[in-house]
Amino acid sequence: MEEIRIAIAGLMHESNGFAPGMTTLKDFETGGIDTGPSIAMRWADAEHELGGFFEAAQKCLFTPVPAFSAWAMPSSVIDLSTYETLLDRLLASLRTAGEFQGVLLALHGSMMVHQMDHCADAHTARRVRELIGPEKPLVVTLDYHANIAPELADHADAIIVYQTYPHIDQRSRGILAGEILCQYLSSGIRPHTFVMPVPMLIPLLSQNTSRNPMASVLEFSRRKVSETDGLLELQFAAGFPYADSPFTGASIVAVAEGDIRIARKAAQELYERVWIERENLTAQPPDSKAAVSQSIREAKWPTILVDIGDNVGGGSSADSTVIAQEIIAQQGPGFWVVLHDESSVWQSVQAGVGNRVSLSAGGKMDLNAPPLAISGRVKLIHDGRYQEHQPRHGGVKFHDQGLTAVIETDRGDLVICNSNRHAPFSLGQLTSLGLDPCHAQLIIVKAAVAFRAAYEPIANSIIEVDTPGLTAGNPKRFTYHRIQRPILPLDSVDCFLNPPIR
Ligand SMILES: [Zn+2]
Repeated sequence: MEEIRIAIAGLMHESNGFAPGMTTLKDFETGGIDTGPSIAMRWADAEHELGGFFEAAQKCLFTPVPAFSAWAMPSSVIDLSTYETLLDRLLASLRTAGEFQGVLLALHGSMMVHQMDHCADAHTARRVRELIGPEKPLVVTLDYHANIAPELADHADAIIVYQTYPHIDQRSRGILAGEILCQYLSSGIRPHTFVMPVPMLIPLLSQNTSRNPMASVLEFSRRKVSETDGLLELQFAAGFPYADSPFTGASIVAVAEGDIRIARKAAQELYERVWIERENLTAQPPDSKAAVSQSIREAKWPTILVDIGDNVGGGSSADSTVIAQEIIAQQGPGFWVVLHDESSVWQSVQAGVGNRVSLSAGGKMDLNAPPLAISGRVKLIHDGRYQEHQPRHGGVKFHDQGLTAVIETDRGDLVICNSNRHAPFSLGQLTSLGLDPCHAQLIIVKAAVAFRAAYEPIANSIIEVDTPGLTAGNPKRFTYHRIQRPILPLDSVDCFLNPPIR
């Protein structure tokens, strides 16, 4: 049997267009830039689509040719020269990879590059397509939070989107991408992908796929695929509202074998199904005052207070003190909070473990509440590295929250200061510090939905809180200039009875 070689590549970033500053090469170096075999070392065992590509190689009997991958924690838009450097390295690694018959390409789908008007992910796919020519299969994977430019489907034969949030299906979506590519190579029947924008900005809380309406919408999709000949995938991408681009918003991605009309028809049907839910795709959780008093009244420990406005995985600052200040104001019980605050880490290091320290913690980037004025004892200093082996949102195995200090305050709170902005996708963030979250009363978690895969098993109660910040839940809090209008919930609903067909 002739050897089949498939190139594996990834260039992944979720860019928060409202966050200040720019994401640079250093952020990708912290997240991980790999060439050749080191891609497999970082990702092959991870619950991530790149890991899924390697597993597909074993299942479908192709030889994986690891070329290039780069990932950074969600953050502000990417600086243009950083993007160009990473893209050049990706293309160069494909050029020098030797013979291959197809490409599996992991993009995120919500990448934004400073001073770049068109969609960065579509641009990346176009450049890869130009390099490999029109015939070789190219299958792209995207996040459920992708803001998808329909042009992407002109360059990729198939687009595979995660269909869970928290994202616990990343590895299986990667395997599926590999299977679809191999099926095309063996049958010669080309897949076609149709992208239909859905004019909705959906708050992250309503994007949760474990509850309705999204659970039933995705059930509808799965049923359609099983009932329809030639329909390979019918997917919903809920979009990422924290970006002011012409592609911001939800979309439907249908993949069919041989005939694109099958994909178009299925997309139309899913559009109508989603449209019925438009009133249910809004979320209005309590503000911090009401949420904190509810948590104290109910006393169901541990209670997770979800800081939606400072959702680190959505590119926020990770140092908001809004909920912590509210707990102190209401004289609530001891809380645990993780704050990104390098200077507090260094002050704690200088004080030394076991010694007293006074800090002004957090509230330096996010100015919605003042820093926490804390006095207490340095309980622990840790290098911040830990591993996650379970399927968790993000699929990262090797975590690094940077040098980390745990401070036990005189009030009885645990304030954990770290040196890298780090999202709460894994309990390892706490357990690696010797902390057992089962023993906490209030835990402030800076997230929207993604944290649930890790925290639901230990939470006695979860209260979502409508806090201000770079990832505030209500899209009406943001100013959009470049977004396609009309769009829900910013504009009136009557305009959207017919889906936009490209
Ligand atoms: Zn996502």
